[in-house]
Amino acid sequence: SDPELSLVDLVLRRAAACPDAPALVDAATGRVLTFGDLRSDVLSAAAALSSRAGVRRGDAVLILAPNCVLYPVCFLAVAALGAIPTTANPLYTEREIAKQAADARAKLVVTVAGLLPKVASLRLPTILLDGGGDGASRQPNVTLYSDLVAGVQETEYRRPPTRQGDTAALFYSSGTTGESKGVVLTHGNFIAAATMVTSDQEDNGEGHNVFLCFLPMFHIFGMSVITLGQLQRGNTIVVMSGFDMDAVLAAVERHRVTYLFSAPPVMVALAKHGSGGRYDLSSLRCIGSGAAPLGKEIMEAVAEKFPYAEIIQVRSIYTQQSLHASSFWLVILLLQGYGMTETSGIISLENLQKGRPRHSGSTGQLVTGVEAKIVDSETMEHLPPNQQGEICVRGPNIMKGYFNNVQATEFTIKQGWLHTGDLGYFDERGQLYVVDRLKELIKYKGFQIAPAELEGLLESHAEILEAIAIPCPDPEAGEVPIAYVVRSPKSSLSEVDVQKFIENQVAYYKRLRMVKFVDSIPKSPSGKKLRRELIAQLRLSKL
Ligand code: ATP
Ligand code: MG
Repeated sequence: SDPELSLVDLVLRRAAACPDAPALVDAATGRVLTFGDLRSDVLSAAAALSSRAGVRRGDAVLILAPNCVLYPVCFLAVAALGAIPTTANPLYTEREIAKQAADARAKLVVTVAGLLPKVASLRLPTILLDGGGDGASRQPNVTLYSDLVAGVQETEYRRPPTRQGDTAALFYSSGTTGESKGVVLTHGNFIAAATMVTSDQEDNGEGHNVFLCFLPMFHIFGMSVITLGQLQRGNTIVVMSGFDMDAVLAAVERHRVTYLFSAPPVMVALAKHGSGGRYDLSSLRCIGSGAAPLGKEIMEAVAEKFPYAEIIQVRSIYTQQSLHASSFWLVILLLQGYGMTETSGIISLENLQKGRPRHSGSTGQLVTGVEAKIVDSETMEHLPPNQQGEICVRGPNIMKGYFNNVQATEFTIKQGWLHTGDLGYFDERGQLYVVDRLKELIKYKGFQIAPAELEGLLESHAEILEAIAIPCPDPEAGEVPIAYVVRSPKSSLSEVDVQKFIENQVAYYKRLRMVKFVDSIPKSPSGKKLRRELIAQLRLSKL
């Protein structure tokens, strides 16, 4: 494609094709930003950031905010200047935010009034997306977004020379297995990622879709796969901050959402309760899961709650090229995808075309343009189908490298192949299965136990809401698996009941040596279980 096409061009190009179609919708207020609005807002915000906030090409801008309609507007406005948006987790502490801001060399902060205390110590010029009237904007260095952009015209925007190899954004990996790392993603990376996923959708002849985005936009899944990927395709994003099952289902009903891309905790919740019959979910045509392992038992349970035998009709209003009305018959698809920050989003996705997915637990096939191989992580030998090894990927969506960290980059990208750190295999049909992270396998004598397998089984139990399996040091075996379990409110399950339930389904070495009942499992906003935290707690309690 055009070597000078930027990520921003890719997304805003849609505005010319369907300026009046809804691009972003605030789930709570129903406020709509059309593609035409999106274009003029992004370009005028870019002009204002340049002329009034002094943002220059190459400057990093820290965005710390919950999901809101202005989030992608700011993200794109910064990128439109050749500057670098770097997105941070609002749950981070002041210290963690300071660390990211310093690492990224942020020059400006974009945040919301409620998060101001967390960025005050940075002493950087700050723009508030919300607020006003509460005195926050009178603090030195703090400007309201509405004041920043007031009176600035989109015609004042000057597009800097951009090439696809230029840095478009600096995302940070989730920090699930260690310190999070800055992942340098180029315009070309995002464009590849966006077009890969959607070309599969296109093949399927899909029309206009409404995506609900409650997954955090600071994370690659929420920003690249859902928001940017779908906007460039002309789809509508209903923006929701934070996750609450009822609010999600209410938003599906209210905004006639067709695509619900989610993460395993949501799938587990859906498997347990479905919609409870309280919401009209007839608009839904696809429920997807990514970001962490999802047991096939859970997928099956969700399928039972949303029988795809029930055929629904979807009205497609906008299609790729033109505005026209049509309608066709579809079924609800349940699918799983696999991806990571370092791949700008998706690596594999269950295919939309191939009729009914079988809920085999696979993460589907590689998206167009991505190559993968399975290697023995010690010998680097290339492994045949059905043998487990480290998943390595290659393609135009692979990061440029870790920011300012040559060592980590060289360790991760070898001869053009990104070593994912994930254990997986292909079946003979080319479906990719992700077993778990290599780092998180529990090592019992010569055996390796994937926590995800135990968790999938545990969470398939009707009286278990959530579970996490972690290693416990053991003098004889090295490590043994134990589990923390959240029971459903009225459950009288005992530790032995849970142990027996697992024992009946797994090899002897995978038996749980201890089960502890807890009220909740710590999780990241993108739905990852924070195993490291629990392991650290366990270690402390043993001292
Ligand atoms: P860090 O690298 O900082 O420890 P992280 O790996 O959690 O954090 P992300 O880039 O957000 O950061 O997550 C990518 C990882 O998420 C993958 O490497 C994989 O382990 C996991 N993952 C994503 N999708 C799936 C899936 N469908 N099944 C299993 N694991 C998945
Ligand atoms: Mg990672």
